[in-house]
Amino acid sequence: MRLAVTGGKGGVGKTTVAAHAHRILGWDAVDLDVTAPNLHLYLDCEEVERRRVHLLGPKVDPDSCTLCGECARACPAGALIVGRSWDFDPDLCHGCGLCVRVCPRGALDYVEIEIGEVREYRVRDTGSRLRSGRLNVGDRRSRHLVNHLLDRLEGDEILLDTPAGAGKEVYDALRAADAALVVTQPTPAAYRDLRRLLRVVRAADLPHVVLINMADVSERWTERIEREVDAPTLRAPRVDDPLESDELRDAVRAALDEL
Ligand code: SF4
Ligand code: SF4
Repeated sequence: MRLAVTGGKGGVGKTTVAAHAHRILGWDAVDLDVTAPNLHLYLDCEEVERRRVHLLGPKVDPDSCTLCGECARACPAGALIVGRSWDFDPDLCHGCGLCVRVCPRGALDYVEIEIGEVREYRVRDTGSRLRSGRLNVGDRRSRHLVNHLLDRLEGDEILLDTPAGAGKEVYDALRAADAALVVTQPTPAAYRDLRRLLRVVRAADLPHVVLINMADVSERWTERIEREVDAPTLRAPRVDDPLESDELRDAVRAALDEL
């Protein structure tokens, strides 16, 4: 099974839960939270490899470009806008190279564009492997880096620590999984995020359970989540040292058993 641990926006304890799940299962793990990867900080691990990640994309020579717009008309992804200037949206480009081929002036080059890196760790206590994506600061191509990692998944027993939020890269991560452990907290903001995230989980058609972390912080919101969420829910208590807590580990184990 490939298991996704997901949790809407940050701060609900997703990574702590992912660390407990990793220790319980002992599977390889992939940290897909590429704008703020931190699962390696929660595990006893050593870095064994670091690789830069590049995408192919167009680069314009402004002295040669006449702003004729041929490239923008040819681009199947709508990634180019040519008017008074030549503009490129790297989020949309999928690197087909068509724009370079149609340019009558030879003003475009097809170049490697670095978007980030993948670090690989060996987890000491389980002997398993953790791969962690890290997007360059300021780069917006998180979905490309997430899919770079997803395209290279090996084996069937993998833990996926998804990106935060409920965006397209979260959907991509969930589509690569067989089940999801959804982490939330009993607060109005977390509940709003949870509802958005559950729509994505259902769109990915995944069996899932909801773990209400720090459930004792608000009985009212915990009960509301239990009442309104159309999925099995479990409670985890507020604890002083979440990473070392037996109570939290037992709650995560119960959620895994439910899946
Ligand atoms: S490489 Fe393909 S997708 Fe990217 S800008 Fe050029 S035509 Fe569009
Ligand atoms: S096709 Fe070439 S010359 Fe025309 S706008 Fe695109 S880059 Fe510029």
